[in-house]
Amino acid sequence: MTARVIDGKAVAREVRAEVARGVEQLLAAGGTAPGLATVLVGDDPASEVYVRNKRRLSVEAGMVDQHRHLPGDVDQATAQDLLDELAADPAVSGILLQLPTPKHLDSDALVLRIPAERDVDGLTTLNAGLLAQGRPGLRPCTPAGVMRLLDAYDVELAGAEAVVVGRSALVGKPMAQLLLGRNATVTTAHSRTKDVAEVCRRADVLVVAAGIPGLIGADAVKPGATVIDVGIHRGEDGLVGDVRYDEVAEVAGLLTPVPGGVGPMTIAMLLANTLTAAKAQQGLGD
Ligand code: NAD
Repeated sequence: MTARVIDGKAVAREVRAEVARGVEQLLAAGGTAPGLATVLVGDDPASEVYVRNKRRLSVEAGMVDQHRHLPGDVDQATAQDLLDELAADPAVSGILLQLPTPKHLDSDALVLRIPAERDVDGLTTLNAGLLAQGRPGLRPCTPAGVMRLLDAYDVELAGAEAVVVGRSALVGKPMAQLLLGRNATVTTAHSRTKDVAEVCRRADVLVVAAGIPGLIGADAVKPGATVIDVGIHRGEDGLVGDVRYDEVAEVAGLLTPVPGGVGPMTIAMLLANTLTAAKAQQGLGD
């Protein structure tokens, strides 16, 4: 094995400690504790686990848990009313609608009920537009977490060849824009790319978010490259990513494991966004 392993758990712990200190400073400056409203619709077990962890870690960071749970058969209007109610509540700094919602709901329309300044998932059109224009705004948590990992390991981005595999609104697109914002030369590969491995081989920094277990092998990795695996899949032997870890570890210079890489960063950045939102709403922003 040649790759250094990126310790996402440790970096996430640092971010959460920073957020906890930020909450203390906000209180000391006369502000009120940030409130995070996670909204869970239905009883999907994976979503329940994600939401439980978000709530637990937000409370550990000194925030107020404003969780709401709606039944799986809730209608669009009722879900919308709840989001509107949260949007008007001064105790709620951030609102996170846990995705995916049950199929009968229009989740895009629901996300748009969240005011941009409380959109701690960074998914509203306004925040996506601010990112596209390179202006300040709340950024999607997973790509923001990847940027934080790259910085924690001093990965050079200016002028680097970066390849992002995947173009979802949640991960791939904002990821490419964040890398571009740091002056990388960015290529996005996706399901219609002719030769994904060939495109990936040019990457100094390769971020894989395709949602296909083991899609990327050693043949797609330039020796010494930094490889970030966003994928998460529950396999027979536990969690696996989109990258074939054992073989890529022989080629890459830096590599994230699954679990323990990007996953813990997503929640940490959610907490960071919630603090940023609370400070801005209370007029105590940076
Ligand atoms: P998605 O299904 O919305 O998007 C997948 C993208 O991959 C699409 O843009 C598609 O064009 C591309 N793609 C599909 N097949 C491909 C192929 N053969 N070659 C190249 N590109 C291909 O998924 P998503 O929401 O972006 O999530 C991607 C993965 O990341 C999933 O495994 C998901 O579970 C994981 N994820 C992890 C975290 C985390 O916190 N670690 C957060 C969000 C998503």
